[in-house]
Amino acid sequence: MLRLGIAVLSMLGSQPAFGVEPPSPAEPPAAWEQGYDISGIIANVPELKHPRPDSWQPTLCWEEPAYSYADPAKLKIELDALWRRGIVPRIGLPADFGVDPKQIDQAVAQAKAVADAGLPVNIQIWGAMDLYRLEDGKLLRHPDMPELKNPTLVGDWPCVTIKDAWKRRADHLRGLYKKFVDAKVPVAAVWFDYEGSPNPWGGQFERTVACPSCRKLLPADVINSFEAFKSYMYNMNMEAIDEAFGKPTREAFPKARIGQFGFSPASQEYPTFDVNGVQLPYCPKQETTDFTVSMPIIYGMPRLVDANLSQAEADRVYFVVLTRNVINTHHNLRPDQRMVPFVARWVDVPATPHAPVMSGWMYRECLRHVILRGGKGFYCFCIAPPPSLPWGNYYDELAHVGAVCNEFFAYPEFLEKGKVLNDSLPAPTETGVVWSGLGLPDKALIRTFALGRDTAEVVQIMPFPGVTVRLLAPPSGQTFIVDRSGAIHTVD
Ligand SMILES: [Zn+2]
Repeated sequence: MLRLGIAVLSMLGSQPAFGVEPPSPAEPPAAWEQGYDISGIIANVPELKHPRPDSWQPTLCWEEPAYSYADPAKLKIELDALWRRGIVPRIGLPADFGVDPKQIDQAVAQAKAVADAGLPVNIQIWGAMDLYRLEDGKLLRHPDMPELKNPTLVGDWPCVTIKDAWKRRADHLRGLYKKFVDAKVPVAAVWFDYEGSPNPWGGQFERTVACPSCRKLLPADVINSFEAFKSYMYNMNMEAIDEAFGKPTREAFPKARIGQFGFSPASQEYPTFDVNGVQLPYCPKQETTDFTVSMPIIYGMPRLVDANLSQAEADRVYFVVLTRNVINTHHNLRPDQRMVPFVARWVDVPATPHAPVMSGWMYRECLRHVILRGGKGFYCFCIAPPPSLPWGNYYDELAHVGAVCNEFFAYPEFLEKGKVLNDSLPAPTETGVVWSGLGLPDKALIRTFALGRDTAEVVQIMPFPGVTVRLLAPPSGQTFIVDRSGAIHTVD
């Protein structure tokens, strides 16, 4: 997970009304207090107006305020207040070797407190960021792996073909989970953010092909081509995290959902993209994985846009590049899987101070279309670490998510059973009408949006076979419900 700088523009406020120009993003950041806490969330994030649909994952926050686990009465008030805003705490479980058992006991106690409050227990696995690192801190390597002197190769790389490493990590996790099982803690979901080996980057290819033992274990084309090695490593990564994390989690908590940062299954027909917009290779191992939550990355990173673009041009690129990260994922999900993207309006890593930041109103529009293209919840990467950035971003990010949930939770039948109606998008360099929708047998929930246009357009849509409707698509977006009869209802 990218843990570095995030910046902010304060863009709280309601979506512009029909036909009104989108608001300027050039407002200065508000003067927020330093730090974030539960009272700040209560003050700045709206309560949900409608019940959360059963299939909707409660909102998770990568950085969390401090809950009062030592004070049960106060904790209950805090949990209730955030739950009314659709937010549930995570239970951090440190999974490195050698962690003080008291830390594990503390995690179990916190999980019990959350469960006793009637909330779903969501465990976030911390650490364990290198499957190949031994208990003594050394990396697993074959004895015949030569030292490489090339100064351009960074990092300290293992022999990725030594798969025993995965089992050792799985067994460690089984030991940690046993404490939760013994304490009879109901676990709703377990979340992973594993970004370590095996992967093809930063010199791993050169390291691997230089090792005689690894060469014997790999197909010839994988040794001879970086592109083949890259695909092989992506597939091996899926296999590794499944063996090390997915399987022990499924064994301990058979009904829990299991998510992994960036897991976005790809196929030939419906390719998916990583955080940089690079197409992901198809990984056969994804077909049988125990991971049941795909987590595509929806991060407004200024490095995704050209620094010379105007705000409006940059917003258009952001919208397309971020929405594109989900449009094919849902096609590749098994029936038992769902999509809960990691979302953030502003992730400034590495820092690109001169590129326009995604406007708040455009971010909110993007979240709407993520929902209408199969999203089932949001994991908010809402951090604002000082000293570089104001803290207000923390509340802004949650307020955007809360507002969009309030809009769409009014139509739970679509969120529960609606089929995605449209995957098409303009290219990042184009303007045009965007529409997204969820369809039921007799009605459809549709959002139109004239991306990059100054005036409203009209779009012709066929939400049902033989039923064509013409919908207005204003620059600030509009939501409709269309009946099978062709009747159109505008949603406020
Ligand atoms: Zn080796």
